[in-house]
Amino acid sequence: MLTGAGISAESGIRTFRDSDGLWHDHRIEDVATPEGWQRNPGLVLEFYNQRRRELHKAQPNAAHIALARAEETFDVRIITQNIDDLHERAGSTKVLHLHGELKKARSTADPSLIYDIEGTELNLGDRCELGSQLRPHIVWFGEDVPAMPLAAQIVQTADVFAVVGSSLVVYPAAALVQYVPPTAPIFVVDPKDVSVPTWREVIFIKEKASVGVPKMLEAMRDFFTEDKRKGE
Ligand code: NAD
Repeated sequence: MLTGAGISAESGIRTFRDSDGLWHDHRIEDVATPEGWQRNPGLVLEFYNQRRRELHKAQPNAAHIALARAEETFDVRIITQNIDDLHERAGSTKVLHLHGELKKARSTADPSLIYDIEGTELNLGDRCELGSQLRPHIVWFGEDVPAMPLAAQIVQTADVFAVVGSSLVVYPAAALVQYVPPTAPIFVVDPKDVSVPTWREVIFIKEKASVGVPKMLEAMRDFFTEDKRKGE
């Protein structure tokens, strides 16, 4: 399962590219690139402090909760582009964050030094144990996505694949669709049309995540029951 900003929209966290999205108020180059960090680290820290304050007030919604409960029936592996922790707070146990985590900071001297952020603020002058400034533990545009090989491995072994709330325009995450085994059906839950980079048939559920995810899980249960019957 690949989730994107859309799954957290109903929790009050803005997506990036919708009309009220974050990229309407902020320039990507200023707040989500290594060059932006070099130019004005204070601005970047304040952008993510705002995101953290927003997340502090947010709760998981029906879609996060349905995916967590689905672990009772399925071996659910969530690969998320989101930096929030709403999947974990809903109770999902296997969550891989492709683009980092908002509630963590990392050393600018040694990327293996990662720390939990207490509260919502990370400021200039907050240092790692080596004395270097801490930065948000976020994969910015133009940076490597270290979790990609593991994500591709997870997708390659899937019996069914789903994309929830992602415009699929950010690479390499969008390319994960290409690793789906030919026998695994592909579902997409999104209220808008999404262009999926595959020639394969895709089952679209054109709903908001809170409605679409429970519908999708029902369709998956039907698929596996039928599949089992065929095999008997
Ligand atoms: P995106 O903004 O490009 O696309 C969001 C998608 O969600 C759109 O297709 C939109 O139609 C859909 N959507 C909007 N409301 C929805 C709802 N209620 N239910 C289901 N779908 C809905 O986001 P993306 O594809 O995730 O882009 C990737 C980037 O966005 C990543 O880098 C990610 O880190 C970042 N991001 C994360 C968060 C978060 O952590 N919650 C928030 C904003 C952006």
